[in-house]
Amino acid sequence: MNPDETQKLIIDESAAARQLRAGFPWLRFEQDLEREFRREQLRGRLPQVRSNLYLAAILVLAFALLNTLVIGATGHLSMYVMQFGMVLPAIGMMVAFTHHHQAPKVYQRYAPFLAAFIGVSVVLVEARAARDGVQILFVGVMLTSIYIYYLVGLLFYEALRANVILWCSYLAVGIIYALPEAGVLYNTLVLLIANIVGATVAYTFEMETRTHFLEQRMLQETAARDGLTGIYNRRRFDEHLDTAWYMAQREGATLALLLVDIDFFKRFNDRHGHQAGDECLKAVAAALARSARRPLDFTARYGGEEFALILYDPTRQYLQDTAARIHSNVAALGIPHGDSDVAPAVSVSVGIAYVVPTLERSAAGLLQLADEALYEAKGLGRNRSVFSETAYADLETGSFRGRAAG
Ligand code: GH3
Ligand code: MG
Ligand code: MG
Repeated sequence: MNPDETQKLIIDESAAARQLRAGFPWLRFEQDLEREFRREQLRGRLPQVRSNLYLAAILVLAFALLNTLVIGATGHLSMYVMQFGMVLPAIGMMVAFTHHHQAPKVYQRYAPFLAAFIGVSVVLVEARAARDGVQILFVGVMLTSIYIYYLVGLLFYEALRANVILWCSYLAVGIIYALPEAGVLYNTLVLLIANIVGATVAYTFEMETRTHFLEQRMLQETAARDGLTGIYNRRRFDEHLDTAWYMAQREGATLALLLVDIDFFKRFNDRHGHQAGDECLKAVAAALARSARRPLDFTARYGGEEFALILYDPTRQYLQDTAARIHSNVAALGIPHGDSDVAPAVSVSVGIAYVVPTLERSAAGLLQLADEALYEAKGLGRNRSVFSETAYADLETGSFRGRAAG
């Protein structure tokens, strides 16, 4: 693989970018992204959904009042039972789920079911009223339908499913209750048309929400990348070092930090030009990224012509091999360096610190160890790796101390 291809590979690794390119006509991302999308979209919307649900409860009460005014208060016990015994408690449960300490997860699991239940209940109330010759309650069914699509935080398919159930139950109830045929037919058709419009808009809306989510992710991804080389930047490196440090501390794992510095790079620029210098940085960055490709390996541009690799819980062998691969991969680039004292081609010096993070140590200390090792590698003549001795004193085996590789 040539450096350019690796470059592309590094940048294109973003799952969000891949998903955006592949498209998602069925409103579904690949597994990890999907899970994250669902959690995030609901978390942001929960307060709004909650107020919508309170409003829904008020609407139910308003409709109950309206029923009483229009049909009269007596003789319609079953209707009130449905309104106050089914619809309101179900709305109450949805509100309660929005308050749950694991709200997004719990709400996501039960809300689609409750929404369908409320839909059927409202249909029953409407049918009960229609049997008494009162048609105005149909607006309640329509309102419920709209609510399910837009106001209770359901995804498109969940809302569509609940609405299909609502529509079918409306048709079924009309037939079972033997309501006036023309009325039922008309209302069923109106409901169908409303659903087609509602579903189309809901689909488009979710499409946009998902696109926005992916773009946002890509933006974050871009902000974490170095503009020239495409690998992670210093900001992301700082974050990652902190995260890896605390993770290793918690799990009793080891952590290795490799600082990589291009030899005589100022002279390279002076001799071959700044543009060639930029190309060289890109190629070296790609070579480094190729040198450590385990899932938790991390490569960043530390600044200027310096790079940093963080290896989580590496075996000594892996650490050694990685250092060797760094030198061989950079050498294999074969970028002629006309003014280097150590090699005819571009080479690097590497300072390595390897520690078991403890409470007495710090991430800054690890960085300092690696920096000292790098300084030593420079002093010893460049184009080599130096392992920090101090770090090794903490590890049991002494066989690997202060090893300088040429
Ligand atoms: P040593 O062998 O001791 O590491 O010496 P060096 O010349 O590599 O190190 P020094 O710190 O003296 O010079 C680093 C040079 O890197 C100076 C600067 O012009 C160059 N540099 C830093 N960032 C960039 C960049 O983005 N593009 C280019 N082309 N050069 C850069
Ligand atoms: Mg330097
Ligand atoms: Mg240098």
